[in-house]
This record gives sequence, C-alpha cells and structure tokens, in this order.
Amino acid sequence: MKSHASLAEQFNRDENRVDWHNETLWFVREKRDRQSHQVSDWEKLREVASKIKLNVLSNLDIYLMEFEKNALTNGIKVHWAKDAEEHNKIVLSILQDHQVKFMVKSKSMLTEECHLNDYLEKNGVEVTDTDLGERIVQLAKETPSHIVLPCIHKKKEEIGEIFHQYLNTPKGLSDPQMLTEIARQDLRKKFLQSQAALTGINFAVAETGEFVVCTNEGNADMGAHLAKVHIACMGLEKIIPKREHLGVFLRLLARSGTGQPITTYSSHFRKPRAGQEMHIVIVDNGRSEQLSKEKFRNSLKCIRCGACFNTCPVYRRSGGHSYHTAVAGPIGSILNPIRNIAAYKDLPFASTLCGSCTHVCPVQIDLHQQLYELRQEIIASGMGEPVKSFSMKILARSLSHVKKYEKLRRTMKFGYRYAPFLLKNNANPWYKHREMPEMPKESFKEWYQKNIGDGK
Ligand code: SF4
Repeated sequence: MKSHASLAEQFNRDENRVDWHNETLWFVREKRDRQSHQVSDWEKLREVASKIKLNVLSNLDIYLMEFEKNALTNGIKVHWAKDAEEHNKIVLSILQDHQVKFMVKSKSMLTEECHLNDYLEKNGVEVTDTDLGERIVQLAKETPSHIVLPCIHKKKEEIGEIFHQYLNTPKGLSDPQMLTEIARQDLRKKFLQSQAALTGINFAVAETGEFVVCTNEGNADMGAHLAKVHIACMGLEKIIPKREHLGVFLRLLARSGTGQPITTYSSHFRKPRAGQEMHIVIVDNGRSEQLSKEKFRNSLKCIRCGACFNTCPVYRRSGGHSYHTAVAGPIGSILNPIRNIAAYKDLPFASTLCGSCTHVCPVQIDLHQQLYELRQEIIASGMGEPVKSFSMKILARSLSHVKKYEKLRRTMKFGYRYAPFLLKNNANPWYKHREMPEMPKESFKEWYQKNIGDGK
C-alpha cells in the first residue's frame, strides 16, 4: 500500500487543483466560523456535547441495552455485528429474505468502512448511492474523499464528463443546476424501482428507541418511505441518552461541518410504517477495543461533522484519497491506526500538529494531542520511517554532545559550501518547493565568542 506522503505527492502534481481544493475547503471553514460566532454560548455548547458523549462512553452498555429494548418495543428488529464481515452478512441476509435485487442507500460512512457496496454487488444486489456526491463518486468508480463532501475533489467540468459518460448527457455540460436536475431525474427512477433502502444513523436515542438521520437532500427519507424494507446501520458510539440531547448535537453538527444553521432534513425514525420492516444493525468493528485504550477513547466522541478535515492544512493540500482509507483527515488519522497500526502508521504523521482540528471539533476531541501520542507509539515500536528514525538518532546524539555537534556543524558547513548539490537536489523534499537558506558566515557560537567573550 502506498503511503500518505507518496499519494499526496501525486495529488500535488496538479497545482491548480491543490489551490482550488484548499480554497474551497477554507471557504467552508470560514462559513463554520461565521455560524459558530452567531451562537452566543458556542463554547459552552461544545463542552456540554463533549460531556454528554463522555457519559455515553462511560455507560455504553447500559445505553445500548436501553436503546435495544425500546427499539424492539417500537417494532424495529435489532441486530448486533462484531465486525465489518458480520455487518455485511446481516445486511445481505435481510435482503435475501425479501428477495431484494435492487437497493438504494443514503450516505453512511459505516458502510464505506465495511465495504458493503462491493460485498452486495458480488452477491447479486445492485446498490445505488442516492446522496448526490456519493452518486458521483459511485459513477466514477471511486471512493468518497471527504465524510461530508464525498466528491469535493471533483470540479464541475469533471462531473459533467462523468454524467456524459454514464448518464448520456450532452458533452461539455457543467452547469451545477442542470447537472443536479439530471441526477435528480435519474435517481427518481432508482428510488421508484428499489425494493429496500439502507440509511446511516446520526444519533440513536436510548430513551425512546428512535434514531435520527441528517441529510441535505432528503434522499434518506425518500428511500426509507418508498421501500418495504428499511435497514439502518450504526457504529455503537452513535447512541445518545435522551431526546433532549438532540438539540445540542443538531445545533453543532451542521454548523461545524458545512456552516449551515442546521441540516435541511433531520428525520426521526421511530417505528416501521404499516406493511414495512425496519432493521437496525449495531456495529462494533474495533470500537470496543478503542474504548479500552484510555489515551484514545475520546476519539469515539466523533459525530462525523467533517470540520477537522476542512480546517486541516495537510488535508486541504493532499486530498482525501491520499489517506487510503474510508475516513480521511485528522480523525481518520487516529481511528485507522488505532485499529490497525501497521497498515496506517503513516497517517499520524500527516499533520502539522497545529491544533486547528482540536479548535474546531464540536465535541472537543483533543485530536492533535492524540496524533502526537500515536506518533510516540509508532516510533517506540520501531515502525517509524527508517531514514527519518536514523537521522533523528544522529541528530539527537549530536545535539546532546557539544563536541559532536560542533563537528557535525563544521562538516555540514563545509559540504554546503563546496558541494551544495548534496542538499540542492530533488531527493531533498525541502528543496523541491523552496530555495535553500543562505549559510550564515559565522555560527552563533563564533559570533558570541567574538562579541561577548567566553562569558567569564
Ligand atoms: S473529530 Fe470532531 S471535527 Fe472531526 S469529524 Fe469528528 S466531530 Fe467533527
């Protein structure tokens, strides 16, 4: 598997795209700032949300069982999946019980995490993603690059080209309104022929056994209301204790993610309508283990708003696909290595540790601190990049011995003066994008001795 650095390098080859990607996401971040400033108790709201989630994580078993009991009373069938494989099998078996060959799906990062689409397609079920961004990446045979804005890496002209190729639209069409209308007409047919609908879950309320799905397009509602079978999938951390807590999270979610006061649709599902079957699949997939890791437990508070992506200077300039995982950005750089450190050991280093992600996170996750902790663990376990680890060792030794440091400094100075190509070459990533600094004529030590003396 390629590392974040090498995939980011590919993304960086198109400088115009990088600038555009960076500016588009920064625009969303600024919208978030404006919206958050309009809520006078914004910081208090973040604190309350964080405390509610902390309570949930400390009593997860109790709230999950309460939710299951109430959901069953409401007539919803509840399933438990220990991992992605079990989740996929459960979904398939529900579909097979109803001879479903065609299903519509609203956006669900959990199903991306479990690679559900591929699994169902291999087992004879056609899945259509109905969130517009997801539909575009599905047609392009790609994965989402952002948890809230799945096709943010695509320009409108490229979307026009995809529609031309797959939906037979005129070549060169790039008007967003027209493209949206075409997608809407195409999706309408899919909605009408679907036999089942799958949605994600943003919040599951333990007190009532209901769940809430937030979308801007109403596609989850359309799918769920038309289909005879509604399957809703959630990670087990999506639980909140009471209905009254929804107000806290709904005020934070859209403001943080897209800079809207609230998502256009916040739909409550409590029981199946007459003649319909409703299923909930509650998935662990490594979350219990994450809960047991005290240093990283906080990351389970995440409500998947995407704010940390929009503000991260590395994400904005490297694109979501460089994280080679379903959930990218700062939170993905924590969640993935926690579950599989060997496969994602590069991700905690895809950060400047500037703390901007922590600053915007609506549930106060200490993201940059956790990234720093993960780096320590990776280096301590010997999984760091060999070249970097070796040069750090040399540097540490030199900096802790005055004579060795002095020797190294003189060698570097000599080398830089008489063989500058050793640093000024394309193997040096610093030099690729910048001028190397001029070597000072004398070191600080030399200057100090000349001007101040030896301090005696
Ligand atoms: S970590 Fe925080 S900012 Fe990032 S997606 Fe999750 S809730 Fe949003």
